[in-house]
Amino acid sequence: MATIFTKIINGEIPCYKIAEDDKYFAFLDINPVKKGHTLVIPKIEDDYIFNLDDDTLMGLTLFAKKVALAIESAMPCKRIGVAVMGMEVPHVHIHLVPMESEGDLNFAKQKLQLSSEEMDAIAEKIRKEM
Ligand code: 5GP
Repeated sequence: MATIFTKIINGEIPCYKIAEDDKYFAFLDINPVKKGHTLVIPKIEDDYIFNLDDDTLMGLTLFAKKVALAIESAMPCKRIGVAVMGMEVPHVHIHLVPMESEGDLNFAKQKLQLSSEEMDAIAEKIRKEM
């Protein structure tokens, strides 16, 4: 069965899209720890980043770098934090989080509640920097 992220790639589930190419896709996390929290994924399904072949992992990293630099330009922050967990969704994803301090990478704390208008505006701001 397709993962929830494959359904997002295929447009079966809506998302706040940031960027896409033939192999990779980026979209806002629906439960952000910070404004601009973005997920970057490969289009192929695998549930563990270190199972990816070297070319796919390298491509994913370079795609994430482009997205991270766009987030950094769009959202005021000290730097973009990177996390890979995969405890919830079995489809490889890199979390990119605009950070002011290390506490911003605490995924156990309460998530932000943002309106769809605010999520749309954030996605648009980041897309303009791509
Ligand atoms: P992890 O698997 O790395 O522990 O966390 C999965 C992440 O995916 C969470 O931060 C969660 O908010 C996000 N997520 C889960 N389902 C969806 C969804 O349907 N849409 C979006 N945009 N994000 C999701």
